[in-house]
Amino acid sequence: MNPARQAIRSTRAACAALFQTVFPDQCWITGTPLSADSPHLSPEIREQIARESLTNYCRRCGSTVGPYERHDRHSPCLRCPTRDIGVHTLARVGHFAPPLSRLVYQIKFAGRWELAAVAAPFLFQALTAVSEQQQMPIDTLIPLPLHWRRRLKRTFNQSEELACHLSALGSWPVRQPLRRVKSTAEQSGIHSKTQRRENMKGAFICRPDPWLSGKHLWLLDDVCTTGATLHAAATAIRKLAPAIRPASINALVLCVTDHHGTPHVEELDADSVPDDHPVTSIRDC
Ligand SMILES: [Zn+2]
Repeated sequence: MNPARQAIRSTRAACAALFQTVFPDQCWITGTPLSADSPHLSPEIREQIARESLTNYCRRCGSTVGPYERHDRHSPCLRCPTRDIGVHTLARVGHFAPPLSRLVYQIKFAGRWELAAVAAPFLFQALTAVSEQQQMPIDTLIPLPLHWRRRLKRTFNQSEELACHLSALGSWPVRQPLRRVKSTAEQSGIHSKTQRRENMKGAFICRPDPWLSGKHLWLLDDVCTTGATLHAAATAIRKLAPAIRPASINALVLCVTDHHGTPHVEELDADSVPDDHPVTSIRDC
């Protein structure tokens, strides 16, 4: 991390600490007062997210599945044909609904990137569980990069923040061979999966990094909607020369939109949505 960014973080952390001294901490999801042993989120919200992480989901597409439905990466679920993410195995914490959707909103659009530290333990549990179940090693985390214009506007990349905290928990290296070369701001209003996939084509390029050879990679993002972004990133990595291709490309996300629960994926802009807005949909970005 460069010194300027480190200085900004330190100043912000000091201001936050001072603010909390004057104003007692509240849950960033519900606004209820917090005790010292449960920073940022109330115990009830933590429990809700933990329960959500125990629900069955498909290890190929991330869709929620019933108790007796197939969800192994070797056995596609009924929704797999409509959501090709292009990765070997997918791990997720939950589906895109409160409180996880509110947590994503706070991190991504309200600029509360400190909450990435709160989300990281849930990601850690989801990743280690799937890695063990599916016998898929974790060699490195690759946060999905933003296009430089969006990064400049947002000032941070939520996936990098999540990767930073997750890496500390699991002692996994974070590597960034990907570069986002295509701005997808013009995706506004595109709701068709086919059009979104088409629009994401060529969005990423992958640097020829020999270290990746034979490794098991885990792409990291906050939300998976149609899967077009993860698919485009995985495609860029697969274009590497055979000698430096990884052994597998997998993905870890905080949440996956439900095919049936939120079929209408609309653009959500931080400037147009008040803090207490009940987030019900989100874009790939
Ligand atoms: Zn599936």
